[in-house]
Amino acid sequence: MSKLPDESFRDTIGTINEEGKRAWVFPKKPSGKFYNKRKIVSYVLLAMLLSFPFIKINGNQFVLLNVIDRKFNIFGFTFWPQDFYLVVISMIVGVVFVTLFTVAFGRIFCGWVCPQTIFMEMVFRRIDYWIDGDRGAQIRLKKQKWDAEKIRKRTFKWFLYFIISFLIANVFLSYIIGSDAVLAMIKEGPADHISTIVALLIFTGVFYFIFAWFREQVCIIACPYGRLQGVLLDNKSIIVAYDHVRGEREQGRAKFKKDQNRSEEGIGDCIDCKQCVNVCPTGIDIRNGTQLECVNCTACIDECDHIMESIDLPKGLIRYASEDEIVKNEKFTFTPRMKGYTAVLFILIGILCGLLFLRNDVEATVLRLPGQTFEHKGENISNVYTFKIVNKTVKDFERIHFKIADPKGGKVILVGKPMIKIEKGEYAQGTLFIEINPAFLKSYKTNVKIEVYDGDELVETTTTNFLGPRNFN
Ligand code: SF4
Ligand code: SF4
Repeated sequence: MSKLPDESFRDTIGTINEEGKRAWVFPKKPSGKFYNKRKIVSYVLLAMLLSFPFIKINGNQFVLLNVIDRKFNIFGFTFWPQDFYLVVISMIVGVVFVTLFTVAFGRIFCGWVCPQTIFMEMVFRRIDYWIDGDRGAQIRLKKQKWDAEKIRKRTFKWFLYFIISFLIANVFLSYIIGSDAVLAMIKEGPADHISTIVALLIFTGVFYFIFAWFREQVCIIACPYGRLQGVLLDNKSIIVAYDHVRGEREQGRAKFKKDQNRSEEGIGDCIDCKQCVNVCPTGIDIRNGTQLECVNCTACIDECDHIMESIDLPKGLIRYASEDEIVKNEKFTFTPRMKGYTAVLFILIGILCGLLFLRNDVEATVLRLPGQTFEHKGENISNVYTFKIVNKTVKDFERIHFKIADPKGGKVILVGKPMIKIEKGEYAQGTLFIEINPAFLKSYKTNVKIEVYDGDELVETTTTNFLGPRNFN
């Protein structure tokens, strides 16, 4: 009877030891072609992430996600709760896009783009290497008693963690309440902004906890995207993979021996040096196959390439490849499943572009006050309404007023002042009366078309209904 492959490694995760306690991961410092490329991508993305809240376009924050006031700026364009359907469609486009990419290229998003990986691997982990040293030195320091060196290193490292967590919290808050509010707090001092400073300290605490202690467990335990791998990946998906055909051959992996012809003897090219395991930030052995812990960071590719180079064997024992490429030597193909996702993606992008194009810059609603009927005012009949006008443009409206386009003979009387001012990205609401001479009414309930002007410029048209006497005829 053939022996089943040992899959017991799937019973536990790399960050929990046999006693069920946290197994701290001390990954070796990565180096190589992929790591250098990831560093460049990470620095560009970090620069974007940190600068977006402080860039203004026509006075609008470039990206603002103000869930408290329900106001969102994307690339300088303001979106209101009324535009929420656009946010939903954009999110669906994002999900389909990531799904398509996962089906085709595995968790490429996790390794190259995800802010968690970028902050963890390119910021906090690099502080570890700088202060504590590489893997061996980190393990030694962990076991070391609390002498002067350990206290000095730990205090300095935790202090840096706190400062960076605090900076990230400031940027994060700038996305939510706006960079102007955060800068005002910095300028005027925390005493006048107690709620902001409390939010800032809570966020700092959360980031500190994540990056100082929870670390790679976010990807392994908390992130739902990693779990999706099982259903999205198939044998044609390109992932960071160990070439087990070449690595094991008929005789399996074996330690390196000089002047040995491994392929002739049927010995795999893997020399079982475990450097790919030592460098892995989630503590797994890629040679076991696809695992949910793998964030496709490519560190093991670089590390194995160094080993292959040093023993004069071809690089690429661990590489971006699909299972079918490794086993059947099949090159990447655009499968029907990928075609299906692509078609859905293009349809959704088309719908989103169309809706964005049709989206009104000004939104006006005029609603008759509930429970009110009509009043006689001299020769006219009057109804009372509430109105709301949202100015999504990038200019201030100085002289907003209303006109009745249909039926003829109607007029609008604003309560308070004859014209209203609405700053860009803001809204105004209030009460108004519509008066119409009954000679122009066609029935007991008449549709009214209202035009909204800023000075002489027509900025929006809306409709409402108007009640007259029941014995109309
Ligand atoms: S680094 Fe390469 S050679 Fe070394 S154990 Fe990993 S796969 Fe085998
Ligand atoms: S297995 Fe390789 S690619 Fe996956 S997380 Fe570990 S080092 Fe990164």
